[in-house]
Order: sequence, then C-alpha cells, then structure tokens
Amino acid sequence: MSRLFGLLLLSVWLVGCATHPVTGRSQLMIMPEGQANQMAYQAYAQMADKGDVLPASDSASRRVAAITQRIIPHAVRIYPEASRWAWETRVFRDDSINAFAMAGGKIGVNTGMLDRLRPTDDELAQVIAHEVAHAISGHTREKMSIAMSQELGLSMATAVGGLDARTADMARQAATVAVALPYSRRMESEADEVGLLLAARAGFDPRAAVSLWQKMQQQGGSAGPEWLSTHPDSGRRIEELQRAIPRMMPIYQQAVGGR
Ligand SMILES: [Zn+2]
Repeated sequence: MSRLFGLLLLSVWLVGCATHPVTGRSQLMIMPEGQANQMAYQAYAQMADKGDVLPASDSASRRVAAITQRIIPHAVRIYPEASRWAWETRVFRDDSINAFAMAGGKIGVNTGMLDRLRPTDDELAQVIAHEVAHAISGHTREKMSIAMSQELGLSMATAVGGLDARTADMARQAATVAVALPYSRRMESEADEVGLLLAARAGFDPRAAVSLWQKMQQQGGSAGPEWLSTHPDSGRRIEELQRAIPRMMPIYQQAVGGR
C-alpha cells in the first residue's frame, strides 16, 4: 500500500514537473496551462465587467499598453509558449496602489498605482515586468499544483483506488482557492530576477527597480500600497535588487544603444 502510494506520487511528480527557464528551479506543475489560463481569462473578464475600466483610448491605458508591448517579446523569448497567449492590458479605476498579471498574460494596473505613486516609465516598467515574470514563470499554476498535490496526497493516503471523481473535484477546488494565496518568497525573488532581466532587455533602466521600492515604502500608513501587502520585506528586497543591478546594466545599455 505504501509502495503504491509512493509510485502514484512519483508518477504525479514525473508528469507534472517543470524546470524554470531562467533560474533552473524545479517546479511542480500538475495543473495544465490551458486550464489555468482559461480560469484566469474568465476571472479577468468578470473583473472588467464589474470594475471601472479606463477606455483603451485614455492616455493612462495607452501608456500601460505601450510599456507592456515592449516587454512581451522578451517574455516570449524566455517562455515561447507565451506567444500564443491572449495578452491584454487594462487600467482599473481603483485608488489602491496595485498591479497584477494573471496566467495567460492578462495584465491590470490600478489608477492608484499611476496617480499616487507617480512612477516614471522605467519604474512602471519594473512593476509590469515583475508581474509578467510571475506569469511566464507559471507561479499561479505552481500554487494551484501544490494545493492539488496536497489534496491528492491526503486522499491517496486514505484510499487505494487512486483518483476517483470526488478526489479530482477536491483537487480542483484546492487549486481554485490557491489562486488567492500569496506567492512564496522563492517565487518573489524569482519574479524580481526575471522582471529585472525582462525590463533591461526591453531598454528600461534597472536602477528604477530600487527607486520604485523606495517610493512604495514612502507610501506608508493604513492606506499604503496594496502591492506591498503581497510583496513584503521590502528592505531585504531592495538590497537584493541593488546587488543585481551591476549584472543588468550592460544588458540595459546594449538594449538602449541598439535602438
Ligand atoms: Zn510579486
């Protein structure tokens, strides 16, 4: 029985294991990409229906779209599958300082991020590139997969039959709940690393990552940046970003010089 359990877990692992294209980290990916993207597309469409979205012709919408368009080719270079994504950007009329990218390339930036933080293009590019990095790293799928495997592990330990309909349903529910969980620290530093690289290749100044975080920190208080609540420990983060800048400057300078 325990051997069967081990074999089942091993097969889940073998089928669902991916290697991160930049960091080489092993990732558990049992949730298929198509399914994760489908869930994200539905959630994004619902947000856009409910939420107040600036028209695409608005200067803020055009600014976010233009920066994202410069980043996308570099995202595709790292993760070629992303060339098939239905990439989309929207600016939400929301005063909280926040931005996100969902699985499958659905990007949102709040008006609060633009109006209250007043980021330069280089700083805004760092926010977007960081979020795009989460998306091409499959971090949401990974969170879902971890939740599913925990659910599957529990069920397999108690039932010999393997995947029945109820188990599969529980695993899917676990995956849905996992979307709302924060990214792990490892995922955050991975998104910082990949985000810096994406932005530098797109010709955005890596030093803006540091000034961005400093601006975030200055916006303290209870109405402080929503983005900081999901991206804590910014002191240590700034140090890590600062350490990475010397490696990124030549990439940035080459991108700017070659334009
Ligand atoms: Zn993040």
